[in-house]
Amino acid sequence: MIMNNSAIKSYRYSRQRQRILEFLQDDFSHPSALELYQALKPEMPSLSLGNLYRNLHILEEQSLILKISPPGSNEDRYDGHVHQHIHFRCGSCHKIFDIDMLPDLKNTFHTLSQQGFTTQEMHISLGGTCPNCAS
Ligand SMILES: [Zn+2]
Ligand SMILES: [Zn+2]
Repeated sequence: MIMNNSAIKSYRYSRQRQRILEFLQDDFSHPSALELYQALKPEMPSLSLGNLYRNLHILEEQSLILKISPPGSNEDRYDGHVHQHIHFRCGSCHKIFDIDMLPDLKNTFHTLSQQGFTTQEMHISLGGTCPNCAS
């Protein structure tokens, strides 16, 4: 099989992309691009920050990952869990916690759809102190 240069390149990018997606799906820390780069670089020596940003952008456009900008943080983070959930960022340890939607909020969506609204996006971010840091 003969592959031209760009075919080899796109093959390599898509394999990298698959691995980036898997990493994010297994990870619950909502890493920044730099943290992702540091975690993946040892197993992907050919990875550059430019590749990584390009792949993250494509994954985001395909709705396979979320890019989140938590309050109090000036760094974008990435989330491989795209079900509807809320983020809580602890101001002390800077961890980001996934919070499930409570019934009240689900009711809000239900009411909206009864009123004819179609909701495609939700951005709810909370900030404060996590139980570990509060005690
Ligand atoms: Zn904390
Ligand atoms: Zn999350």
